[in-house]
Amino acid sequence: MDDSVQFYWDIIAQDTAAEGARLHFKRIPAELTCLDCGNIYAPGDGILACPKCQSTRTKIMAGEEFHLDSIDVETAKAPASASVEK
Ligand SMILES: [Zn+2]
Repeated sequence: MDDSVQFYWDIIAQDTAAEGARLHFKRIPAELTCLDCGNIYAPGDGILACPKCQSTRTKIMAGEEFHLDSIDVETAKAPASASVEK
């Protein structure tokens, strides 16, 4: 998922100040609450059902956020006429 976000970012950032920007992701673990027994748990790989009562009536408590933490902007230090070394 990170890669696809970066991929689309590269496309929409073209010819803007954000062109070439690197995105850094920090994942937060998901946390579910079972609506039947009140159990709070972290879902396993692809298994969302409550490990206690096997209920699938659950509510996502954490891990659904998409939060922008910070943006570092680097301004061009060299004048536009400077030669570019490759
Ligand atoms: Zn349960």
